[in-house]
Amino acid sequence: MRRPLAPRVPFRRLALALLLPSALAAQQAAPAFDASFTAGTMRVDYFHTGGKGQEIVALDRVVADGEWPGSRTQLIDATNLGVYRFQVRDAASGALLYSRGFSSIFAEWTTTAEAAALYRTYHESLRFPWPRRPVKVVLERRAPSTTTQIGEFQEVWSTDIDPASRFVNRALVAPAGRVIAFQENGPPATTVDIVLIAEGYTAADSAKFQADAKRLLAALFREEPFKSQQASFNVRGVFAPAAERGIHRARADVQRRTRTGTEYNIFDSERYILTLDNRALRDLASAVPYDFVEVLVNDAQYGGGGIHNSHATVAVDSDFADYVFVHEFAHHFAALADEYYTSDVAYQTGAAVKPEPWERNITALHQPAALKWGSLVPPGTPLPTPWAKAEYEAHSQRVREQRQQLVARTAPQADFDRLFAEQRDWELAFFKRQQYAGRVGAFEGAGYETTGLYRPELDCIMFSRDPVGFCAVCRRALEEIIRLYTA
Ligand SMILES: [Zn+2]
Repeated sequence: MRRPLAPRVPFRRLALALLLPSALAAQQAAPAFDASFTAGTMRVDYFHTGGKGQEIVALDRVVADGEWPGSRTQLIDATNLGVYRFQVRDAASGALLYSRGFSSIFAEWTTTAEAAALYRTYHESLRFPWPRRPVKVVLERRAPSTTTQIGEFQEVWSTDIDPASRFVNRALVAPAGRVIAFQENGPPATTVDIVLIAEGYTAADSAKFQADAKRLLAALFREEPFKSQQASFNVRGVFAPAAERGIHRARADVQRRTRTGTEYNIFDSERYILTLDNRALRDLASAVPYDFVEVLVNDAQYGGGGIHNSHATVAVDSDFADYVFVHEFAHHFAALADEYYTSDVAYQTGAAVKPEPWERNITALHQPAALKWGSLVPPGTPLPTPWAKAEYEAHSQRVREQRQQLVARTAPQADFDRLFAEQRDWELAFFKRQQYAGRVGAFEGAGYETTGLYRPELDCIMFSRDPVGFCAVCRRALEEIIRLYTA
């Protein structure tokens, strides 16, 4: 239900109301870390069940999860990103000690047609510094956005945790894999810590995993803002060998039971790779301190996935693996939205009126004067910004038909890669011809929607496989997250 428009208020009051949340966050951002937390990580595992409009959250277990890898000053998440957010509050005083926004496979699933017809359960984890005293952990979900205002977080579940109680397991899980340091630039508290999980690599593939990881990391740190801030990142790998090469790929009848259960065909989408076995993934990752987790899949079939503050994946051996790695990592790291809109997706799209998305890099543009990336738009740029949209869509449709033919005859990956390369060359030439190429504006077609959603630049890593880097708006969003983990 759409919220009625707020009554007009005097400018001074409005300005104060707008300033208040960030001012509060700044005040709360520096509680003395050591007074509230030890140096460890607490992990709350739970089952997230839903369907047919219902949602049930059920506690699984509370365990220790290694050294705390995050910032000790940036404890409150003021980014307002994610479909969900959790808060850790002091049980006695109610004081907010820690918070973080995130998205989840469950949240995506609820936007598929299946969720209206049946129930499913997903496993999730909340990780935060180990509290010295009893805390209340509150899980919140974002209310639907209106056309002008993004939805606010509302409590859906909470649980009380006494860290000294017998309901908390303080033992660490035995490391199940070999740890490989790819780059170490500083203590976890002041760096972004990434863990790369090897999946579908046999014992004989250890050197290949290291070579794949180095190649993909080189691709990530070629792109701004990662390039100029590489020294703020630690990257470690966890190598636990698989019995056989590759991962489960149901549509090709490649059957596998791998370490973390990472598989193709999530939501019946052939190239969508994630793991539904969050417990296994977390237990493997806990061998090292990590803020972000990327699963490297030893497979050649194009694919990957990325969920904000959950995990990301990439199949390392397709021709476009470098690109997929960077694109999916950006979903995971900064909750960047897909800017593309001409590919088939499992999500329900096509609503008549689009509410304003909470993501940084797409907008419904109901109020061009209040555009969230307005400060980056050069004066005189029309909003919406014109481009040869129909010509682009006609070409995309031809590529899509060719791709469906390749899928229908189970063509080799090389045929897909050739098609994608042709598409890339056509798009680069096409975008170059546009009047507003390389400028920030608001270009219609974004977030899987042909109309009513807009992206910041014509082309971006979140829009296409073209070698164009992140647009200015995405770069700014990525920098914001780097600061959250390095301050
Ligand atoms: Zn972008």
